[in-house]
Amino acid sequence: MDKIKLATVWLAGCSGCHMSFLDLDEWLIDLADGVEVVFSPVACDRKDYPEGVDLCLIEGAVANLDNLELLHQVRDRTRILVSFGDCAIHANVPGMRNLWGAESAAAVLERGYLELADTTPQLPNEPGIVPPLLNRVTPIHELVAIEHYLPGCPPPADRIRSLLQALLDQQTPPHSGRDLLKFG
Ligand code: SF4
Repeated sequence: MDKIKLATVWLAGCSGCHMSFLDLDEWLIDLADGVEVVFSPVACDRKDYPEGVDLCLIEGAVANLDNLELLHQVRDRTRILVSFGDCAIHANVPGMRNLWGAESAAAVLERGYLELADTTPQLPNEPGIVPPLLNRVTPIHELVAIEHYLPGCPPPADRIRSLLQALLDQQTPPHSGRDLLKFG
């Protein structure tokens, strides 16, 4: 039987959801029996998101143009997309700058790089390398269709395992109960 092609993607998040994924510890060995990891910041070095991905866990919200372009590419090339963690689901920490309103990109850059700079205050500007910030940090389901949600900041390893095991068994993941459906 062909292995499931698994990807994990990191948009605007802190990587804590990926750290929680690594907390699956020895179950990762069982997982490796059933999946082939084809794209992941923690498991392979390829830069281009491949075609024909079966399942992708996508961490983080959409905060810049690179996030937005990658999200649409991931959606086009993935059968089952999981909104992985609170930043992906409701923008969470990166979304706090939305409180600045319609000019939040300029406001957060000025605060971080000009007002709080100890030396040589300057805005980052390297076209083609530093992606422009978007004015609103957006949860991913507002931009593309999502098959499943995995809440938590980060989702605990047991919750990740529960979802992955169900999907590997071609069953609907259980989305109920405090252990499996809890933000924060
Ligand atoms: S949900 Fe929490 S742990 Fe995951 S990327 Fe966001 S801040 Fe980090």
